[in-house]
Amino acid sequence: MTSTSLLATPKTSPTLTMTDLVTIAHADGIRVWWRHLNGRDGQWSARHRSIWLEHDLTAVKARSVLAHELGHAALGHDGPQNEQHELGAWQWAAQLLLSQPAYATAETVVGPHPGAVADELGVSRSVVLAYQRTLEAA
Ligand SMILES: [Zn+2]
Repeated sequence: MTSTSLLATPKTSPTLTMTDLVTIAHADGIRVWWRHLNGRDGQWSARHRSIWLEHDLTAVKARSVLAHELGHAALGHDGPQNEQHELGAWQWAAQLLLSQPAYATAETVVGPHPGAVADELGVSRSVVLAYQRTLEAA
């Protein structure tokens, strides 16, 4: 990965669309595929530099899962992921998809419940939980 890699330094942009995320992946030579994954939402393979997304995901969930799998790629994860890797990838996704002002506004509107904030921000609950862990660690 070069120093100009978009994956090397996540840019906070709450307006990143699914197309933007796929463009980020392609810029790093990562291909994104849709298929049935037998119960999994997404999968990253370092060997194939590929991300697979479950065909039936909602638009909101697909965007969050793709950001999560890009997190695995950016963090150099490979193979079966342990809990620490999973949390790290969700935190990376949260950095990519959420901004402090957007999060603060959502929490003001709907309160701190992760599910409600997730609905407000158009991301999955896992992204909000990871963002809240980041805030607690700060
Ligand atoms: Zn994962």
